Amino acid sequence: MTDILVAGAGPAGLATALLAARAGFDVRVIDPRVGAGGDSSPIDKACGEGLMPGAVAALRSLGVRPAGREFAGIEYADGRRRAVADFPAGPGLGVRRTALSSALLTAVVDAGVPVQAGSVRSVDQDDSGVTVDGQRCRYLIAADGLHSPISRLLALDRPAKGRQRWGQRRHFGVAPWSDRVQVHWSPHGEAYVTPVADDLVGVAVLSSEKVPFAEQLRWFPQIAERVAGSDGGPVRGAGPLRRRTTKRVAGRVLLVGDASGYVDALTGEGVAVSLACAQALVDCLHRGRPQEYEKRWRTASLRYRALTSGVLWASGRPVLRRRIVPTAAALPWVFRGVVGQLAR
Ligand SMILES: Cc1cc2nc3c(=O)[nH]c(=O)nc-3n(C[C@H](O)[C@H](O)[C@H](O)COP(=O)(O)OP(=O)(O)OC[C@H]3O[C@@H](n4cnc5c(N)ncnc54)[C@H](O)[C@@H]3O)c2cc1C
Repeated sequence: MTDILVAGAGPAGLATALLAARAGFDVRVIDPRVGAGGDSSPIDKACGEGLMPGAVAALRSLGVRPAGREFAGIEYADGRRRAVADFPAGPGLGVRRTALSSALLTAVVDAGVPVQAGSVRSVDQDDSGVTVDGQRCRYLIAADGLHSPISRLLALDRPAKGRQRWGQRRHFGVAPWSDRVQVHWSPHGEAYVTPVADDLVGVAVLSSEKVPFAEQLRWFPQIAERVAGSDGGPVRGAGPLRRRTTKRVAGRVLLVGDASGYVDALTGEGVAVSLACAQALVDCLHRGRPQEYEKRWRTASLRYRALTSGVLWASGRPVLRRRIVPTAAALPWVFRGVVGQLAR
């Protein structure tokens, strides 16, 4: 019987697998999007691709150093005003999802963890283990993303409250025009411009209006002008973004990453929180106390959930929304404080 079966080879699943293997567990990873036989061909995904300094530090502690382009902080703009704040202790990193996936997959395969192609379709557990599509393991880790089929199988999903939002992203072959991640605010949504290489930027748009990316780009004339005429890669989308679950520990099944709950991509912290929760999960298993993971998850994700819910709440009220960039520009120490929180 395998100690730990990790379902999902995104950042949460791969970090969990790597930490668990290093803690001495016998681990396997399964994901429908990886090649068979431990092939380390990378997985792409709709993402703003800005790794906050905390995520960069967590990856470094795993020995994972994906190629990317550093950014010094965050810039908010609404076409008239601009607010700028740098991270207090070191930069973030703009990283193509394929580069992140490749670096993590290589580390996992090097740690001797088998990575197999396939989807978890059935889960049945008893006191001694979990039967996953006929294979036995002591613990199943559901790191299967925003739409977590495993969470659905176990009836752990809760209805999401509030307005629904979606994200779309596209790359453009132009040199970054800022050393920060720019967040452009319009009445329709927000656009993130992340420098990911010396000749490439990613533009991610978050909105509750489900319209084609080209139409969304017109909400942000300053970005549209910069990327006009450059090669754009394919558009990728994700959503609805908000995800709620009843609990993170269901017997011998533990949830991590977006599968465990997600508020929004507004603060760009998804990977940082996924890595912090992966560490908490493996600590709990290592100490033989899986039931403590629920509390550790709440602590590790609290700041993200509170900050993102707060900004999302304000951004959903037109009067407050219009005040976000002017307030950040008028009170730079407040904006610096918020950006400092994102860096952790
Ligand atoms: C538009 C957008 C912009 C974002 N911007 C940022 C940002 O700038 N910075 C940041 O840090 N975060 C950002 N995020 C959030 C970040 O992308 C996620 O938090 C992160 O990818 C979560 O990783 P994960 O491993 O939980 O899920 P994923 O990366 O989604 O991985 C889940 C994996 O599970 C697999 N899977 C699905 N079903 C099964 C199954 N039945 N069995 C086995 N495997 C299965 C999938 O194939 C997938 O590979 C953004 C998100 C969006 C949508």
